[in-house]
Amino acid sequence: MAVNTTTDWTDPIACPFCGEKLASPGAGFVDHIDDSPDCNTEFDHWRKNVGGDLAGEWSG
Ligand SMILES: [Zn+2]
Repeated sequence: MAVNTTTDWTDPIACPFCGEKLASPGAGFVDHIDDSPDCNTEFDHWRKNVGGDLAGEWSG
């Protein structure tokens, strides 16, 4: 589903899990994992791993 255009993204973002290009870094990624259960699962694992280091304020 690659969309190859001459559009010059100032900050090209790709899904870190499957490498698919995203329309935008924030909402585009959310839309992408919404459409890609595999990436959604990977993101969930990633977030848990990261969260483990940043859990200070989230405890309880
Ligand atoms: Zn992906």
